[in-house]
Amino acid sequence: MHKKNWRIETQAVQGGYDPKPSEPRIPPITQSTTFKYDSADHVAKLFDLDATDPFYTRLGNPTWDAFEKKIAMMEGGVAALATSSGQAASTISLLNICRAGQHIVTASTLYGGTYSLFANTFPKLGVEVTFIDPNAGEEEIKAAFRPETRALFAETIGNPGLNVLDFEKFSQIARDMQVPLVIDNTFGTPCLCRPFEHGANIVIHSATKYIDGHATSLGGVIIDGGNFDWNNGRYPELTEPDSSYHGLRYTEKFGPMAYIIKARVQYMRDLGMALGPMNAWMFNQGLHTLPLRMERHSVNALALAKHLEKHDCVSWVNYPGLPRHPTYELTKKYLPLGASGVLTFGIKGGTEAGKKFMEACKLIALVVHVGDARSCVLHPASTTHRQLSEEQQKASGVSPDLIRLSVGIEHIDDLIEDVDQALRVSQGG
Ligand SMILES: *Cc1c(COP(=O)(O)O)cnc(C)c1O
Repeated sequence: MHKKNWRIETQAVQGGYDPKPSEPRIPPITQSTTFKYDSADHVAKLFDLDATDPFYTRLGNPTWDAFEKKIAMMEGGVAALATSSGQAASTISLLNICRAGQHIVTASTLYGGTYSLFANTFPKLGVEVTFIDPNAGEEEIKAAFRPETRALFAETIGNPGLNVLDFEKFSQIARDMQVPLVIDNTFGTPCLCRPFEHGANIVIHSATKYIDGHATSLGGVIIDGGNFDWNNGRYPELTEPDSSYHGLRYTEKFGPMAYIIKARVQYMRDLGMALGPMNAWMFNQGLHTLPLRMERHSVNALALAKHLEKHDCVSWVNYPGLPRHPTYELTKKYLPLGASGVLTFGIKGGTEAGKKFMEACKLIALVVHVGDARSCVLHPASTTHRQLSEEQQKASGVSPDLIRLSVGIEHIDDLIEDVDQALRVSQGG
């Protein structure tokens, strides 16, 4: 079982959990905080990281394990760590390699919560973050690096700017600057984009979005590509003895899994951003249909984008699958199977028309979410990105007339009908 050469559709349904005779076919929800042992020596081994069985759900749980193994397999990484949210995933993924006094370089086109984490909270912890325009040239981006820079961060598809990342440029910069490239692949999903094949070293997700896919559960995940050489002198926390584990050296003991094991046994242990077993079970369930759903999300979004492009009430449409999109060449290169389910458009009449449009939608719901099987709509300037200054909004790709649609897997004709009637209402007609 667990053949490496399975295609992603097979990994999605069969990967990560391999029951033995008489064990449940479906990974059970192990709703238990703790696990029983008979021997004190065995428990001592667990604490010394010489054994990997579960012993306390803040550090691991069999239901997480099934989810982590499946998503790691689908991304093509060596191992994963489930977290309580996407925010927890980005926080742990970076704090694991970057401490007070150190520095991160990030593309500025980010999810609002990530932008705020980097602009407000990391600096309070002593970690400085420099935001760069992802379209800037290699030399200009490299100029943002400092001797203490420890990671380069970006999203596969910027949210809500919907720019596709130039992986070749970013991974080259990361290699030259000797730091890992950390990618938020929430919008791409492993079904549409494979960051490790394009030079990424760490992938994170808000599992809350497409991985869950049904708007039931909050969670996240960090996947380790196992492809970064931590022995370059810049990551002593991975290569030098850890006094909280009797002088263990992660790279020496765990080889290519050093990063993800350290994230679990240091930061998950100490910060406790642990995923509930029930949510892990929901994500496992969601992953089964992820390849099917991403296909439909992409087909529907492209059809709706093309429809909106021709519409009188619409001044512009932004979808990375449209040939006129500024990063269309990158879409073809990195998302050849589809450009995911999120599109934005400018509504004639600006903010006021935008509000009317959202309220007039009947099938498409006004909710703060993306990646649900159900279509939803949002006005980022007045919601997800409202804490940002106008300048910051611009840098992250948000304008006042921008409407964001997360296109679901309903029938496309029903979606078009709903959008058309709501557009008519938005123009007072
Ligand atoms: C939602 C989202 C996050 C944050 O995830 P939560 O699960 O809400 O904490 C991070 N990145 C992207 C791209 C997102 O869409």
